[in-house]
Amino acid sequence: MSEAKRDRVPIKEGFFTVPADAAPPKILGSCCADCGEHFFPARRVCAKCNSQRLRAAEMSGRGSLYSYTFVHLPLFGATSVEYKDGYGVGQIDLDEGPRLQMPLAGRQEEFRIGMRLRAELDVVRQDKEGRDVVSLRFRPLEDER
Ligand SMILES: [Zn+2]
Repeated sequence: MSEAKRDRVPIKEGFFTVPADAAPPKILGSCCADCGEHFFPARRVCAKCNSQRLRAAEMSGRGSLYSYTFVHLPLFGATSVEYKDGYGVGQIDLDEGPRLQMPLAGRQEEFRIGMRLRAELDVVRQDKEGRDVVSLRFRPLEDER
């Protein structure tokens, strides 16, 4: 309980935030100033209206499960016992619009098409400086506020 929290760094810069506290991560993308379309990853030209007036956008990390599958093999290279029986992968429609393909946190029977999900950070390994390297995954959202 008294173990010091390690610093956290994203597995790759520019795709999601890593809050210093327990706050959920935000998804980093872009938004078109002309038509309002959101994109992940960020784009320089709007794929809907060809505008070049895009700005950086932080998205909520909440969305709905469009589709998913479960892989009944241990996650390659994973050291977490959580992945020893396999893992889920989902396509998540963010509330802002973009569809992401990301790992799922939870057991297969917890998921159903259309359910609400939220992003969270998952420690994938430690780096040479002893920091936690984190990536995104999605978990069922129990209480929407
Ligand atoms: Zn546009």
